[in-house]
This record gives sequence, structure tokens and C-alpha cells, in this order.
Amino acid sequence: MTKLLPPHKAVDLLVLSLYRCHTEFCYRCGGKYHHLKFVGNHYDRFSILGCKYNYKPDQPVQRIAVRGALFGGQVMVVPIIAGLAVTAGCAVLGAGIVAAPFYASYVLIRKQRAKRKRANIKKKK
Ligand SMILES: [Zn+2]
Repeated sequence: MTKLLPPHKAVDLLVLSLYRCHTEFCYRCGGKYHHLKFVGNHYDRFSILGCKYNYKPDQPVQRIAVRGALFGGQVMVVPIIAGLAVTAGCAVLGAGIVAAPFYASYVLIRKQRAKRKRANIKKKK
């Protein structure tokens, strides 16, 4: 029996199956609902995970091109941000490496002065 259900019945069935298997499906394209941090979700117009009915449903090439370009842009931007973070980390580390000998000598000089002071006190006694 392959009788088409009226739309509202179909949606009811889908909601029911959703309730049963706890999997999220898109009711427009039937695709699985994906969500990724930074990439977006199925309801995003310009996300590569976005629903095909959400953006240029009749022009798949344009849709893929636009979404691909935007995703490519995101992929390019993330390493730049990561690179900046690494650079900042290196700068802090570099400053630490440069400052460490000065600090070590400062500590050493203080220790030596303290030693001399103690020696002087002993001599006076
Ligand atoms: Zn969809």
C-alpha cells in the first residue's frame, strides 16, 4: 500500500519516529540533523551542513559553491586565529626565556649579598 499521506499526517508520523528513536531528522529533506561547532547546523542557510531547501534548492551548484567558499573561508580563518594564539603564547614564553637569566642572576646576587652580610656580622662579633 503506497498511498501518500496528507502533509500534516506525514509530519505527525515523523515526530512519532523522532520520539521513538531520538534521532533528529530534517522534515524538509529527510536528512539527518547535524550540528557542529563553528560549522553550523542544518537550519543555517550558509552552512555546508545546512538544508538544501533552505538556500537555492533549485540551484545545487551555486549552493555548493557558496557554502563551500564560506566553509573554505572559515577553514582559512581558524588556523590564522590559532596561529595568533600560538604567536602570543610564544611571545610570552620568549619573554620568559629572555627574562629568566636576568632574574636568576638577580636572585644569585641577592643571595651572595646576604651571605656577605652574614659573614660581616660574624667578623664583627
Ligand atoms: Zn533538510
